[in-house]
Amino acid sequence: MSDRIRKSVAGMDGYTPGEQPRDRRIVKLNTNENPYPPSPRVEQALKDISPEDMRRYPEPVSRELRDTIAGLHGCTPQQVFVGNGSDEILALCTRAFVENDGTIGYFDPSYSLYPVLAEIRDVSTCAVPLGESFEWPLDVDALPAEVEACSLFLVTVPNAPTGNSYPRERVQGFCASMPGVVVLDEAYVDFADSDFMDLATAAENVLVARTLSKAYSLAGVRTGYAVGHASLIEALDKIKDSYNVNVLSQTAALAALRDPAHMRQNATRIKTTRGRLGDALADLGFTVYPSQANFLWVRPARLAAAEVYARLHERGILVRHFSDDRTRDFLRITVGTDAEVDQLLAACRDSGL
Ligand code: PMP
Repeated sequence: MSDRIRKSVAGMDGYTPGEQPRDRRIVKLNTNENPYPPSPRVEQALKDISPEDMRRYPEPVSRELRDTIAGLHGCTPQQVFVGNGSDEILALCTRAFVENDGTIGYFDPSYSLYPVLAEIRDVSTCAVPLGESFEWPLDVDALPAEVEACSLFLVTVPNAPTGNSYPRERVQGFCASMPGVVVLDEAYVDFADSDFMDLATAAENVLVARTLSKAYSLAGVRTGYAVGHASLIEALDKIKDSYNVNVLSQTAALAALRDPAHMRQNATRIKTTRGRLGDALADLGFTVYPSQANFLWVRPARLAAAEVYARLHERGILVRHFSDDRTRDFLRITVGTDAEVDQLLAACRDSGL
């Protein structure tokens, strides 16, 4: 081990992203991308970018995007931050709101990036186990001291990888009881029945993080945003890279956000396919958990989840398997097109999965 590397960095594994195969024939149901293309307005807007636009630095604070997002959510542009994917925003939160002796909290299982971000900051973590069926675990009127002590608590809602949402009164009560900053990571909210944006615009300690990677079909563009109290947004602005969102991304994101009908239509199709896939997997004996997201959390009936993952992989179908204690018996399957889902189901039937 080189002594030139910070000890905490040398000792960590880093985040493991889902596989991104080059072979386009692979049925890719492993990273919760949208199977449908973004709004045609995105392609047109990118074609309209001139070399002159690229010669110059981008608008440093993504002004037009902030104005548009503020309009969408009925808040001021001062309550909006735009990032290079919501991953960047999550990382900035760990730098803006957590002292070196602070603690970052999150539920287990939730987004597997959170513990990695805490390792990068070399701060303590408080991983709160979700209930037996991955339900909300805390009595919000009497929070454990170690939870209350977290300077930042990250809540994925709807949760990933389990797909469920949480009761409104719990989330609201939790945000009200927590002295520190609560980030509600709503990456999958456009596939859900409800959202918590109103908490971000009302409370002083709540940020809602959103992404254009899922419902807006722009994972490759890397744009996300956060909405919250102007004091929290100002802190993020102070520490971000000067030009954190490039010209191409700002242009594409703006065009996508200006066509919400396209996003809604795709989200509706995905929700319909989600229902069909869930029913079919349940018929095959899988345990299927209720999902408010663009993926299903399932437990295979006959073989170990790792084995099912491997057999599907052999057949050119990628799903996601997380090997932690709480997650190793399950698979997370992204809802693809109807044709992709049919291929998955055929593979399950043919291989006796
Ligand atoms: N939050 C959650 C819960 C996610 O699953 C993801 C995608 N992996 C992200 C945030 C990151 O999204 P983005 O592409 O905007 O960085």
